[in-house]
Amino acid sequence: MPLDKIKQLIQDSENILVVSHIDSDGDSLGSAIALQLALSAIGKQVFVPAPTRFPQRYSFLHRYTNGWGNVPQKPDIIIAVDCSSEERIDWGDFLSTNGIPLINIDHHDGNHNFGDVNWLDPNAAAAGEMIYELLREIPAPIDENAASALYVAIMTDTGRFSFGNTTSKTLAIAAALVEIGADPKYLTTETYFNFSEEYFRNIGIALFNSRSYNNGRILFLTLDRATTQNFLTSPKDSEGIIDFAMAVRNVDVAVLFKEMSRNNIRISMRSRRGIDIDNVAKYFGGGGHPNAAGCSIEGTLATAQEGVLKQIRKLMGIL
Ligand code: 5GP
Ligand code: MN
Repeated sequence: MPLDKIKQLIQDSENILVVSHIDSDGDSLGSAIALQLALSAIGKQVFVPAPTRFPQRYSFLHRYTNGWGNVPQKPDIIIAVDCSSEERIDWGDFLSTNGIPLINIDHHDGNHNFGDVNWLDPNAAAAGEMIYELLREIPAPIDENAASALYVAIMTDTGRFSFGNTTSKTLAIAAALVEIGADPKYLTTETYFNFSEEYFRNIGIALFNSRSYNNGRILFLTLDRATTQNFLTSPKDSEGIIDFAMAVRNVDVAVLFKEMSRNNIRISMRSRRGIDIDNVAKYFGGGGHPNAAGCSIEGTLATAQEGVLKQIRKLMGIL
C-alpha cells in the first residue's frame, strides 16, 4: 500500500521538501500549503520552494503559509503533489534531488510514475482530496488554515463542485473542511469574484476573439499578443476564461490559445464527457485529464490553431 509507505517515510523524516507543478493553480498551491501546515504541526521541518509563478487570484493563500523557500540542501524526503510528470515539477530554488526518496501523490490519469513511491488516484477530484486522506491517516492535525487551503484546492479543481469529477466523497471532504473552519463564501469570493481589471479585460478580448467550427461544436478563444498589448494586459492572467466557452450551448470542445510570444502558444482545452481531449494535448507533448488538458506549441498562433483543430476533428471523427 503506497499510503502506508508514505506514512512511514514521513514519520521517519525530519526535513521534508514539498513541491508541486509549474503554472501553479488552486490545487497545487492549496495541497502544498496544507501539507506544510499539518506536517509542521507534528514537528516536521517542511519546506515549500516559492512558486515560480503565483497567479494573482490565489495571492490570498499567502496568508495561510508559514512562508516559502529557505530550502535545506538535503531534505530527507521530497513529496511532489499534483504533478503528472517529473518535468512538470516546480523545483524553485531547490536543485539537488540526488538520492533523496521522491514521493509522488497525484490524481492525473497517465501519471508517469516518476516517484520512488507512487500514490495515484485518478478518481480523486483534486490532489487536495488525497492530501486530506493522507493527513487523516498519519494523523496530522488539519487546522482552520490548512482546511481553507484544501477547500480551495478541491473547489478549484472541481469548478466549484460542478465538474464530472465531483463525487459524494468530494462533497463529504468539503463538508469536513467547512466543519473545521473553511469559509465557503469567503474562499469563493477571494478566488472567483475578485477580478483584476486586467483579467476583466482579458475576458473581453478572449470572448471577442472567439471562433466556432463544425456548427458550434468546437469553440476557440484567443488571447493574441497584438490585442492584449493594445489593451495593456498579458495573456497570462486567464485561468477560468475557458469555462465561459464550455457554457455555450452545443459546445463539445473549447480551446483557449494564449500567444505568450511570437513562437510560443499556451493551450488550454476542455471537453464534454466521452471526448478525451488529453489525447490532443498528448499529441502536442502536453497532458492532463480526459476533459481538461493543456500543452504548449512552438510555432505561430495560426499554425497552432490549424494543428489543434485538425487533431480535435480527428478525435471527434468529424474530419
Ligand atoms: P489548464 O487548462 O487549466 O491550464 O490545465 C488543465 C489540465 O491540464 C491541468 O490538470 C494541468 O495539469 C494539465 N496541463 C496543462 N498544461 C499541461 C502541459 O503542458 N503538460 C501536461 N502534462 N499537463 C498539462
Ligand atoms: Mn489538480
